[in-house]
Amino acid sequence: TTASSFAQSDRAAIDVVQIDLAERSYPILIGQGESLWQEAHAHWPKGTSAVIVTNDTVAPLYAKALRQRLEGHYPKVIEVVLPDGEQYKNWETLNQIFDVLLGQAADRKAVLFALGGGVIGDMTGFAAACYMRGVPFVQVPTTLLAQVDSSVGGKTAINHPLGKNMIGAFYQPKLVVCDLDTLKTLPAAELSAGLGEVIKYGPIYDMAFFEWLEANVQALVAQDVEALRYAVRRSCEIKAAVVSADETESGLREILNFGHTFGHAIEAGKGYGAWLHGHAVAAGMVLASHLSTKLGYQQDAQFHARLVALLEQAGLPVQAPVLDATNNAQRYLDLMRVDKKSQGGAIRFVVLKPAGKAVTEKVDDAIVANLLNELITA
Ligand code: NAD
Ligand code: MG
Repeated sequence: TTASSFAQSDRAAIDVVQIDLAERSYPILIGQGESLWQEAHAHWPKGTSAVIVTNDTVAPLYAKALRQRLEGHYPKVIEVVLPDGEQYKNWETLNQIFDVLLGQAADRKAVLFALGGGVIGDMTGFAAACYMRGVPFVQVPTTLLAQVDSSVGGKTAINHPLGKNMIGAFYQPKLVVCDLDTLKTLPAAELSAGLGEVIKYGPIYDMAFFEWLEANVQALVAQDVEALRYAVRRSCEIKAAVVSADETESGLREILNFGHTFGHAIEAGKGYGAWLHGHAVAAGMVLASHLSTKLGYQQDAQFHARLVALLEQAGLPVQAPVLDATNNAQRYLDLMRVDKKSQGGAIRFVVLKPAGKAVTEKVDDAIVANLLNELITA
């Protein structure tokens, strides 16, 4: 295993981030080209069949190459191509995976490969958790968001008509393979959405990374592979550190939701799909940073301005939208209260105490309403 540091001269090398969860530990491999896939090959779980689960956007781009890489290793390679879209992250589509698995007589020695963004990763992981009470799975994330966030940490789920990600399981993959070359075909809006989650890791955990992002945001937007490689690696390292300390979200892991409480209200209030998740999180982080200041925890006005500037350079929205023309603050509060992270009355927020370190805290509605009234104007 060759772990390397961010170095222009070392293009063939790959980066490895280890997720430490005792017997559920696994590596994340980050790189491109043959060196990446050779290393991946050495880590494939043993099995009698490989089942590639992907969608009709990603399949034409990358399924053939993955199939060829798996064919030498597994006696049988099966493909399941699902329709593309968050609206298909449901029971019906999940069942299509089981239909193929059972139809092809896949047994407990089947290994599932999630090839796609977070929707495919979440659904495939949940299918792997359920099929025959659990079969191994590998994440091959092809969006920036999936490489830095959803493929790491073992949260799997489908949506229910009454709530996003409400049916799921904690189930860790055996391996994550981040092929940076796949990001080249990603639409610009999806790239910026991923950058929203990347930027999140700075204020909650690592201001040195935040400074690196400030210096390299142009390269990231221009899809410079070495810049992306470091951003993916550092994001995975931070997520790994947080998840290793709190696998099932009983405490620390909540800090990964910085900007998300406001962001979820924006996504729900505008109607799912109108705002990409990473975009809603960006506008949400601006509000959460303000809230931190308001609570007296984060008094560096410079930091707030830097956060806004960085998000803007990453092509992200920084202004939260009006969700209700007559009673906007109340609408936000109502939407945030149904978010599954709120416990009892007061809503919990992730706040900076100060920038570089996040904590969660219940905040009185009145304080939040004042903030929303100040900052969101038509
Ligand atoms: P996505 O999976 O919908 O992918 C975005 C779009 O990009 C899709 O149309 C997809 O087909 C397309 N695509 C994927 N790879 C591509 C490529 N290389 N080139 C061109 N197009 C490509 O969205 P996402 O942002 O990757 O993930 C969002 C999902 O992840 C949500 O369902 C969310 O709930 C989930 N999520 C889960 C976790 C977790 O911890 N499990 C964390 C964050 C988000
Ligand atoms: Mg998120």
